[in-house]
Amino acid sequence: METSNTFRGQRIVGGNVALDMLNTQNGPAGKAPEGDVLRDYGDFLAWATHLGVLTTTEERRLRRRAHERPAEADVAFQRAREIRAYLHEIFDAVAHGKPPARADLRRLQGDAADAFAHGQLVAANGGYRWSWGDDQDLERPLWPIIDAALTLVTKGPLDRVKGCASCRFVFVDESKNRSRRWCSMDDCGAEDKMRKYVARRASARASRSRIASA
Ligand SMILES: [Zn+2]
Repeated sequence: METSNTFRGQRIVGGNVALDMLNTQNGPAGKAPEGDVLRDYGDFLAWATHLGVLTTTEERRLRRRAHERPAEADVAFQRAREIRAYLHEIFDAVAHGKPPARADLRRLQGDAADAFAHGQLVAANGGYRWSWGDDQDLERPLWPIIDAALTLVTKGPLDRVKGCASCRFVFVDESKNRSRRWCSMDDCGAEDKMRKYVARRASARASRSRIASA
């Protein structure tokens, strides 16, 4: 689903929280990232809460803990950046019709095993649901993201994972006829329309002046 929701000016357009995490870095497609809305662990917590990965209560607790253990918070943030980097490799490959590197899939596998070791089954509505509990591990926000990435890899729809035709953003194309080309029609889509319009005007002008000088 494409929403007009933003985090610090960056649109949230991934349709999957793992892809949204990749889209915290911006820049042109196929190039090194130019900007990053996550500068430290505190940013990561704010982003995770904004995306619904954490409740505000969980965020508050983790923020307090990070304040008490700044070195551990830095390590957790470094982990988040590493995970974001290999998830980008995986889904950027998928988006361009290539198989992801086995080493990256193995990292996801290892991180998933580690994440699920922290969760538990809890009774809910006559059945059970998976819960990450109120674990205060500073890596807590990463587990639902890894879960989302694993679910996308194993259950799909991988054939709907696409890269924006203009920037490095990756998203799940949920359009009926799979025709989505842009992260957002308001950004890259609009820029493309403007570029085409300018090119059309220039060529119209050129052909008018050719006629005039003929
Ligand atoms: Zn884009």
